[in-house]
Amino acid sequence: MKYDLIIIGGGPGGATAAKIAAKNNVNVLLLEANEEGRYKCCAGGIPIRNEEFTPIPKGVGDREITGGVLFTPQSGAMEFEASGKNNKGYCMFRTDFDKFLLDNARDAGAQVIYESRVKRIEIVNNKVVKILGPKEYQSECVILATGLGGAQLQRTLGLAIPPMVGGIQAEISVPESVIDEQFGNRVWEFFDRNLIDHGIAWVFPKLQTLSIGVLGNGVKMAHFKAFLRNPFIKEKIEGREMKVFGGRKIWAAPIPDRMITKPYRERVMVIGDACGTADPILYEGIYQARLSGKLAAEAFLQALEKEDFGESSLARYSELLLEHLYEEDLRYSYKFHHLLYHSGLLERIIEASYSMAQDDPEMMQSTIALFTGSETRKQSWEVMMSRKWKLAKLLGIKNSMKLIPTLFHALRI
Ligand SMILES: Cc1cc2nc3c(=O)[nH]c(=O)nc-3n(C[C@H](O)[C@H](O)[C@H](O)COP(=O)(O)OP(=O)(O)OC[C@H]3O[C@@H](n4cnc5c(N)ncnc54)[C@H](O)[C@@H]3O)c2cc1C
Repeated sequence: MKYDLIIIGGGPGGATAAKIAAKNNVNVLLLEANEEGRYKCCAGGIPIRNEEFTPIPKGVGDREITGGVLFTPQSGAMEFEASGKNNKGYCMFRTDFDKFLLDNARDAGAQVIYESRVKRIEIVNNKVVKILGPKEYQSECVILATGLGGAQLQRTLGLAIPPMVGGIQAEISVPESVIDEQFGNRVWEFFDRNLIDHGIAWVFPKLQTLSIGVLGNGVKMAHFKAFLRNPFIKEKIEGREMKVFGGRKIWAAPIPDRMITKPYRERVMVIGDACGTADPILYEGIYQARLSGKLAAEAFLQALEKEDFGESSLARYSELLLEHLYEEDLRYSYKFHHLLYHSGLLERIIEASYSMAQDDPEMMQSTIALFTGSETRKQSWEVMMSRKWKLAKLLGIKNSMKLIPTLFHALRI
């Protein structure tokens, strides 16, 4: 049987694309390598804007998040409360969330096959896509939604693979009441270049579990263990057990750092992490994967109408990505990323920004928006830049001199 569309990968990107295509009466098949309900190494923090795609039911969004904490060794915990309906979020297990999204796609009419790892993709005479795995399938077009696990498929199709950093995390069992008291409904982000030079650490509270991890360039187990020894963390997790998933307590996975420049070719589009859409300020990628899935599904529907799956037809997907994800958001995330992670001033910039936000509601809203996505990265950047002299004053002369070349570079991105 020949499908209109085959999607490879059942993460948030693939599931979102499948649902939208199926709702538009497309004959769509999604192939997922893993079994139903697999564990996914992810802190599972998502802002409320994910509900642009589907409302998130109670139970899937394990814990509602209403604030955040920025933590630096010098200042300790800098807390903020995010009020307003656009500022909240959820922390949840990806096992539940991804299953929920795939069930949604199924309900919309997509066929979903688990335990079906695709090994090869062939484009035969520019006419049909052959998908080879445990079985062979054919389609007009394919969406690669393989996260960072499909590099081989991308390479053989001549598509680029995004640059990436590594993440290591564990899920620690803690009673709900203890999490409420010690961490609250807040995501905790740790900025400490002595722990990891180009990256962050976090504690994300789920209902009865803490996701604790470190990510960054060249992250190693030693970084993760050092974070567990951080006195603030150590005291709180002493005697607590790490949960076991798939026989392992500690999981590692990569996360992309930059979008690839050409995420399509004839009959193929690449979405989500495979395309490098994650936001490298706090390294979140779920919303971006879903948005790119939606845009690829829209480009596919236009191509289907024209019965043209050639490269120039699917270039529409790239245009949509630039318009809806890059121009107002990712481009400015890369500027923030450069400023934070390439200036050598990570902690100082975080402390200065938080300090400015104390008596500056616009700055506070912008800081909150970095977590919640309640304003675009472009808006947040403009707020920050309009206060650059104040920032320089707070950083002091020596640090400001260090900041100048990084800032010039960031402005050119
Ligand atoms: C440690 C860590 C913490 C993170 N925390 C957060 C967070 O708190 N919030 C956030 O927004 N993001 C977070 N992220 C990023 C987030 O996990 C990703 O950006 C997101 O999962 C990308 O979704 P995706 O659909 O593109 O890919 P994925 O979710 O990776 O899904 C890809 C799917 O494709 C399947 N697959 C791969 N190869 C094949 C094949 N050959 N055949 C069939 N199926 C295949 C895989 O099994 C997988 O299910 C984190 C990442 C890491 C590593």
